[in-house]
Amino acid sequence: MVLRQSPTPVSPGLDRPGLELEIPEPALHLLAGLWVASCPTCGFQLTSARTQQRCERRAARRRCPVCFEG
Ligand SMILES: [Zn+2]
Repeated sequence: MVLRQSPTPVSPGLDRPGLELEIPEPALHLLAGLWVASCPTCGFQLTSARTQQRCERRAARRRCPVCFEG
């Protein structure tokens, strides 16, 4: 029996697609009747929708391309 050591540490979450990494909750703003979700860290606009609920749902699936490159 041979024990193999993994040469590089694997980031948790990469091999578990069902598990989301820690993503800060998007900041929601109501602008001119339109809900806009933006990254709370850098302010990048993630998505927008007519209703707050829809906006939250859409934003929940999105990760900020600026803070989460790749
Ligand atoms: Zn960001």
